[in-house]
Amino acid sequence: MAKVPVLEYPHIILRRKAKKVNKIDRSIQRLADDLSDTLVASGGVGLAANQIGVLRRVIAIQIPEDPEPTIYINPEIIHREGKREVHEGCLSFPNLYGILNRSMWGKVKGMDRKSKIFRLRAEGLLAQAFEHEIDHLNGILFIDHVADHENLYRHEPGPDSLGEEAVVTTNTSS
Ligand SMILES: [Zn+2]
Repeated sequence: MAKVPVLEYPHIILRRKAKKVNKIDRSIQRLADDLSDTLVASGGVGLAANQIGVLRRVIAIQIPEDPEPTIYINPEIIHREGKREVHEGCLSFPNLYGILNRSMWGKVKGMDRKSKIFRLRAEGLLAQAFEHEIDHLNGILFIDHVADHENLYRHEPGPDSLGEEAVVTTNTSS
């Protein structure tokens, strides 16, 4: 278990598609631990395996009300609805944010660390985090959803703020 370096854009692995996990073996458990530890250390909302250099379909998400990150294996969005404008960032793009559209809510399915199949309904920030992290598994980055360059901006964090993945402020207007 360890915090590992987060790859930054334009690292080529961020543009590659991650492979499905067929068996949750020790290497996948280690990957899950590294994702959790690195996410906690970075103070982000989510992290995908590509971002730490591993092309397997595993993500970690921790929204502010969660006591610790949750690992999702082979996550897929099976339904999405609505549209809302959000301000979003990414641990692979330090201090860069964009204004883009995400869904209001969605349904996600996948597997947990014990190979148990789950289906869940995600709203707001959680839905946004799933969309952002599953995009990573497909080599898609948040900048791809930013309609024009004027909607990208830099923001240097102050001394009290932590690195933020997936969201700065959430605007729930549709
Ligand atoms: Zn990201």
